[in-house]
Amino acid sequence: MDIHEYQAKELLSKFGIAAPPGALAYSPEQAAYHAREMGGDTWVVKAQIHAGGRGKAGGVKVCRSENEIQDACEDMFGRKLVTHQTGPEGKGIYRVYVEGGVQIEREFYLGFVLDRSSQRVMIVASGEGGMEIEEISAQKPDSIVRATVEPAVGLQQFQAREIAFALGLDPALTAQMVRTLMGCYRAFTELDATMVEINPLVVTADHRILALDAKMTFDDNAMFRHPQVSELRDKSQEDPRESRAADRGLSYVGLEGNIGCIVNGAGLAMATMDTIKLAGGDPANFLDIGGGATPERVTKAFRLVMSDSNVQAVLVNIFAGINRCDWVAEGVVAALKEVQIDVPVIVRLAGTNVEEGQKILAKSGLPIIRASTLMEAAERAVGAWQNDLTQDTHVRAVK
Ligand code: ADP
Ligand code: MG
Repeated sequence: MDIHEYQAKELLSKFGIAAPPGALAYSPEQAAYHAREMGGDTWVVKAQIHAGGRGKAGGVKVCRSENEIQDACEDMFGRKLVTHQTGPEGKGIYRVYVEGGVQIEREFYLGFVLDRSSQRVMIVASGEGGMEIEEISAQKPDSIVRATVEPAVGLQQFQAREIAFALGLDPALTAQMVRTLMGCYRAFTELDATMVEINPLVVTADHRILALDAKMTFDDNAMFRHPQVSELRDKSQEDPRESRAADRGLSYVGLEGNIGCIVNGAGLAMATMDTIKLAGGDPANFLDIGGGATPERVTKAFRLVMSDSNVQAVLVNIFAGINRCDWVAEGVVAALKEVQIDVPVIVRLAGTNVEEGQKILAKSGLPIIRASTLMEAAERAVGAWQNDLTQDTHVRAVK
């Protein structure tokens, strides 16, 4: 789960990370009011969307008067901001953050990520802040400082000092930098984050270290124990297909292709997507319906997959271990009777009670294309979709 910059700054402030004063606004008037209350002569209006790269796309504007703030806001509210991280459809701006402008002397990149190869939290830092980490690693790879944290003891002060030295930070600021690094590490572990990124972390003209931007991502599976974080979820920023799936307890990732996938088990879902690719097609989604694929769950899955207008064939691939193929087959039949499906449906069942499952599909009289191996299923899905484009011999299903 992602959160907004202003929310990340608020969470991090509880761990001792300093940021300029700021306030959230839902309207241009409110933004101007906050600036007046805050005082000062320079403010930065920042579009709150779940993506970076806002600065270059017009989502971060420096303003020197209330009028300028109102104009900047009017330009932002309700608009979709397209940055290199949002994809071409962009993300809607419904909130802006008004922040005191600071004079920047130096900018750093600071990131905390889960490094799967060392199975530890890794700190990544660079003196080339302001640029995205991908650009830094392409253009200035030598500037990147990395350190991994031993989980049994956590981040140590000496490690934090070493990072500060490696970045060439003014020694007078070491203590502030150590506090920032230790605070981020605590926030990362205590809140079950999977990523904390401050880019840029700046040294101001008056020698303070401040987070000018902040991004946090959390482990969805741990959100039940952090209600103060999970309530920060903003569905307006999510792929609607994915939020619908999350609400229904299904694990779904929307993709660009046109073959919808309904699979039980994450590994099998990955293998199914690979096999579709191998057969010359493109999956429309990753979908793991989980172990207990009841008829209700299968129906929900069909609804979800069919809500994507790109889907031109649906491949159901179930390996029944704990499950039973006859139950799944009943689920598929019930779903096809209930949900409006006008694309070919290919079903491959394997495992417990497979014969009964096949019988239920055959007896249903529904135009289900059956396959006995995954490769055959993928080829049939790709073939059915391609056929469907050229001729209408395919029997279109149900209601
Ligand atoms: P993004 O990463 O989405 O582009 P940032 O919050 O990093 O958005 O802002 C982009 C740039 O704008 C920063 O690199 C910084 O140079 C400048 N900036 C952001 N906030 C402030 C601020 N409060 N005062 C001065 N400059 C700022
Ligand atoms: Mg940034």
